[in-house]
Amino acid sequence: MVSRPRDYSRERGRRGVAYYARYAPECAACGKKCYPSRKMARAVARVLFPGRRMRAYECGGEFHVTSQDADAAELGRRQRAVAS
Ligand SMILES: [Zn+2]
Repeated sequence: MVSRPRDYSRERGRRGVAYYARYAPECAACGKKCYPSRKMARAVARVLFPGRRMRAYECGGEFHVTSQDADAAELGRRQRAVAS
């Protein structure tokens, strides 16, 4: 039951998939987890939701992932369109 904290020291300051899978900050705008890039968002999604089709979408310069509701991806696109 007791899970020891993972050793992230090998990352050497470069935050990896394991880091963002656990400690991704929450978006101030919508509360979803933030990832620094679309690539990272997808990588984390593969870890957290294996076998599920996940979408990555941009929100305020960060990226979120979503699974169930494709509407969230549409929301991200609209927010991006409004912001630009
Ligand atoms: Zn957001």
